[in-house]
Amino acid sequence: MKDCEYQQISPGAAPPPTSPGARRLGPAAPPGPGPGPPPLAAAPRWSGSGSESIGRRPRRKWEVFPGRNRFYCGGRLMLAGHGGVFALTLLLILTTTVLFFVFDCPFLARELTLAIPIIAAILFFFVMSCLLQTSFTDPGILPRATVCEAAALEKQIDNTGSSTYRPPPRTREVMINGQMVKLKYCFTCKMFRPPRTSHCSVCDNCVERFDHHCPWVGNCVGRRNYRFFYAFILSLSFLTTFIFACVVTHLTLRSQGSNFLSTLKETPASVLELVICFFSIWSILGLSGFHTYLVASNLTTNEDIKGSWSSKRGGEASVNPYSHKSVITNCCAVLCSPLPPSLIDRRGFVQSDTVLPSPIRTDEPACGAKPDASMVGGHP
Ligand SMILES: [Zn+2]
Ligand SMILES: [Zn+2]
Repeated sequence: MKDCEYQQISPGAAPPPTSPGARRLGPAAPPGPGPGPPPLAAAPRWSGSGSESIGRRPRRKWEVFPGRNRFYCGGRLMLAGHGGVFALTLLLILTTTVLFFVFDCPFLARELTLAIPIIAAILFFFVMSCLLQTSFTDPGILPRATVCEAAALEKQIDNTGSSTYRPPPRTREVMINGQMVKLKYCFTCKMFRPPRTSHCSVCDNCVERFDHHCPWVGNCVGRRNYRFFYAFILSLSFLTTFIFACVVTHLTLRSQGSNFLSTLKETPASVLELVICFFSIWSILGLSGFHTYLVASNLTTNEDIKGSWSSKRGGEASVNPYSHKSVITNCCAVLCSPLPPSLIDRRGFVQSDTVLPSPIRTDEPACGAKPDASMVGGHP
């Protein structure tokens, strides 16, 4: 991958797990395979003040997660805060498919071929698995800085300022494939956002390679679930087109030798399927085409909308530094590159001495640790 390797806060600067220093909520980048909670650390000595923590069960990190996500099955599944539109997506797909199997497939299988229900079933299961994976996968949330890390970074920013330049700049610049990329400071997560990261206002999290927040799938679409999202809209295009074509065929065959309107009256379920497919097919096909262009260009929706790499922006010629200049390589990089592990370690236990992210302004990091905020790739 050509994407730059980026480290927001050096994990090496953090104290070892057994030391009394503060830890990040999630494993620091790059995460190991299981930095999670050492079993001993789960002892009932967790954050919280003194007596009140005694005798209480250790809490998992998803229970104190600062974003607006909802967690299910003990933190194994996560979803954005408002799931109403996601439920509507499920309802529309399930209703259309069930009606198709009940009212159209028997006729089509008898009159044409058994392949029709088989193809529809395969497409349906593929669509549902892609949808559920998009919805319940961590999209690439970056854990917020702990109080100590944030304080250290604040100190570093203050040191870069001078009496004539106040306040100190809240941006940094890194060079990526010959292109200067500006990193903005996130006041919620208390860190400089890595390249291509954006803060989702719905979920209240910084998400790596943020594409957009999609209420239809009930989740952000980012680095860790973009491929599932793309597979979902692409397969949904096929399923919708397939059902639409089959229902039209069904109605045409049925109406042979009789009035077409009376056939429509006899099959209200097929008419409902036609209406749902007709109104959704255009947006689904349009979305698939748009994301195919994004994948081929290694762009995100966010970058495309903002015109981040538009040649006219700021009067300077700028090119997408993440593009591999080849459609095939871009597709492979976006869809087939290894999936990075989740950084929020939501099933891990809250450490006894974890200082949870909160509005901070401490003069000194009280944790003894001296984390520094370093950037690979350099900054001015
Ligand atoms: Zn943020
Ligand atoms: Zn979101």
